Amino acid sequence: MRDDLLQPGRLWWNWFGEQYFVPRYVAKPRTEEDVQDIVRAARRMDLPIRASGAGHSNPAVVPTPGIHVDFDDFRDVISVDPDLLRVVVRPGIRVGDLSRFLRTRGMSLNNQGDIDTQTIAGAIMTATHGAGITLPCFSAQMIAARMVIADGSILDLSAETDGELFKAFRTSLGMFGLIVSITLQAVPSYNIRKTSWNADTEDCLTSLHDLLRDNRTFWFFWLPHKDSADLFELPATVPSRTTRDNDICHMRAYNAVPASTPAPALNAGEVFDHSSVIYPNVYMPNFREVEYAVPFARFEETFDALRQLFRSTYPEALFPIECRPVKADDSYLSAYSERDGYALSVSGPLEESTWPMLRDVDAIFDRYDGRPHWGKHHFMSQARMEKLFPRYDTFKALRREIDPDGIFLNDHLRALFV
Ligand SMILES: Cc1cc2nc3c(=O)[nH]c(=O)nc-3n(C[C@H](O)[C@H](O)[C@H](O)COP(=O)(O)OP(=O)(O)OC[C@H]3O[C@@H](n4cnc5c(N)ncnc54)[C@H](O)[C@@H]3O)c2cc1C
Repeated sequence: MRDDLLQPGRLWWNWFGEQYFVPRYVAKPRTEEDVQDIVRAARRMDLPIRASGAGHSNPAVVPTPGIHVDFDDFRDVISVDPDLLRVVVRPGIRVGDLSRFLRTRGMSLNNQGDIDTQTIAGAIMTATHGAGITLPCFSAQMIAARMVIADGSILDLSAETDGELFKAFRTSLGMFGLIVSITLQAVPSYNIRKTSWNADTEDCLTSLHDLLRDNRTFWFFWLPHKDSADLFELPATVPSRTTRDNDICHMRAYNAVPASTPAPALNAGEVFDHSSVIYPNVYMPNFREVEYAVPFARFEETFDALRQLFRSTYPEALFPIECRPVKADDSYLSAYSERDGYALSVSGPLEESTWPMLRDVDAIFDRYDGRPHWGKHHFMSQARMEKLFPRYDTFKALRREIDPDGIFLNDHLRALFV
């Protein structure tokens, strides 16, 4: 083992500063052998292990008293297959770096989320998603992976050969082992024409199904307050189909054309660029957030209940509610497991006083079968998991088989998955 591989633990905190811990050791692997050595050392010392990506998750998915494995130095592209449009990467590569690399090889990611500074492993392990009724989350873009499991050996898994185990692994919060490489299915390089505008909420809801049908991606932010748009730095200059300044929606439609297509003439509120440029936005770590995905067919009643709650109980709330449709996938634990969903994300300021509001919001999601985003705050219990995830028990049994001593668990995960 490299002499300098295990370093004394250092304070780690997540992007929001909400989660922090000092582990016994921290390790920054650069090779697969490093990762195996770390797991074997953990076994010898009887210490638990947790991996971190870019630390953009809200809940305590990373903290451990044992060995913290930081994949920041393990982020290169291993190989590319331009015929099959596949790429093999190390887990710590940032979504944006991968997306820009793919562009140079005539490819794009099928979809991306709101930011591109997450690691690819973190995005996959939490079922991070973008928007689009025909576009599934990141977990579904992974077709194979290689990891170091609890006994220090290597396990290769692929969608083709490891059906059920792979479906369990797709969204597993690092509980199966330390991922050392990921194979992703990309698509031919495309540009996006992005159109943004503001509209009355009632008009948004009336035209919702047409907008979803007519655009590759349609999503919107509900702006409860006249200052909401400023808070997210949403562009003030978009064309507006409303004269109101609250209870309105900021709408976005994305349509793709092959990257070789010349730029079209653009209207006000439109931009046109490569997918790697259009998807990412910039956020400040000033919010506390929950996100749940309700069944697609229950979106309107859920949205209506949230809107009523804000207007009656929290009329001064500023933070926009983001509403994004996502296609079903086959992973056991993604919020879209075997069902098309609508992700609604609700935030408040990064203050203690935000919790009661998020609890009220959670009660609404519970009523409408909302499943949590694993990278955002949630109030899950085993009883709720039983109700929401048909494959929950199978997931727990497979996790036990692959890591019988639970070295890849921490308290947060043990409460839900053991
Ligand atoms: C500003 C902001 C915008 C966001 N936008 C979106 C969005 O548009 N859509 C969306 O769905 N989500 C979004 N998220 C949530 C975010 O995508 C997820 O929290 C994601 O997991 C963050 O990735 P990360 O690299 O920071 O992973 P981390 O938060 O560091 O880790 C996530 C999980 O991955 C595991 N992990 C990481 N590396 C490995 C490895 N090598 N082996 C095994 N396990 C590993 C960790 O143990 C942990 O369980 C956003 C978050 C922020 C802060």
